[in-house]
Amino acid sequence: MNAVFTVPGSSLSLPEEKMLSMDFPITWLSKWQGLVGRFITLKINNRCPLRCRHCSLFESGEPPEHEFLLSEAQLRSQIEAIDPAVYAVVVFVGGEPSLSVNSLRLGIDLCCERKLKSAIVSAPVWASSLSNANRFLDQVHGLNLLHLSFDLYHLEFLKASFYENALEAAAARGLPVAMLVCYANERELDDVNEKLRALRHRFIVSYSQVLPLGSGAQLLGQRQPGSTIETMADLLALPRSCRAGNTVMDKHGNVYGCCWAESVNSSPLAMSANGGGARTAIQELEASLIFQSVRKHGMINSRTEQQKQVMLEIAKGKYFVNECHLCLEAMAQGGSSVWR
Ligand code: SF4
Repeated sequence: MNAVFTVPGSSLSLPEEKMLSMDFPITWLSKWQGLVGRFITLKINNRCPLRCRHCSLFESGEPPEHEFLLSEAQLRSQIEAIDPAVYAVVVFVGGEPSLSVNSLRLGIDLCCERKLKSAIVSAPVWASSLSNANRFLDQVHGLNLLHLSFDLYHLEFLKASFYENALEAAAARGLPVAMLVCYANERELDDVNEKLRALRHRFIVSYSQVLPLGSGAQLLGQRQPGSTIETMADLLALPRSCRAGNTVMDKHGNVYGCCWAESVNSSPLAMSANGGGARTAIQELEASLIFQSVRKHGMINSRTEQQKQVMLEIAKGKYFVNECHLCLEAMAQGGSSVWR
């Protein structure tokens, strides 16, 4: 039987009791229990053979001017900066991290030494056949979680058989798989869900809606259905999507309280490594009352009534896809009055 387990709210770092309520088979649950906790994402490269329409990596339409690959020393110092008491899982991303398999090998081994779990986010370009999928997963043995990007945009480049091969090779190793699904509208969501249901192996699914920013803006064009925010009730009715707490570290060791905070010029959730390096940036983020309140309650719910009023003034007359979309506008427009 095909089994798709949906993770509501798009967050993979679910509290244990929420996972328990999701009717996971017990063997799966025990695998996932070790992964419950906060994730920190490290970008090991910015290379990718694909050109997915929703991806911001090649926004200009040109390959990045400066390809980068984290050096061994950078990777070591970034992983050593991560406190296992704060973070449970290190997620290696790119670009396409499977293009830098030596870095992945080193990163996974360093995580093991530091009692951290490891995961990657990958499009399975390495799974054109079952033997190729096995070869890649052999190279990254010790990995605790495989995220596969699965959406209509990746499927313009990769056949469903690549995912089948990746899932089969992962299943043979007892490696849990989470499908990461981006979608622009309900029609795309239905379409991608149908394709997910056709796959034969077990996985869970995490959904994210494309925001009309950067490549997403080009993708969505003028097609932005939905009504504008006019009242506080409209604002409070926005779909919640906050994942603050699952942190991102960039190649310089700067630390961001969520993946979106890196995309804006100024964010209260961004901590520079310039002062004392990545370790200090992580400590400063953890010590930030703004970050902790957003992490615990979500962006909208963590704001006071007065701060919500400021957000309403910023939002009035505009359409927002979800909480993150509004939050980014608040970071760009709101100044400190939304946050302090
Ligand atoms: S709501 Fe804001 S802080 Fe929370 S994840 Fe979205 S962009 Fe980040």
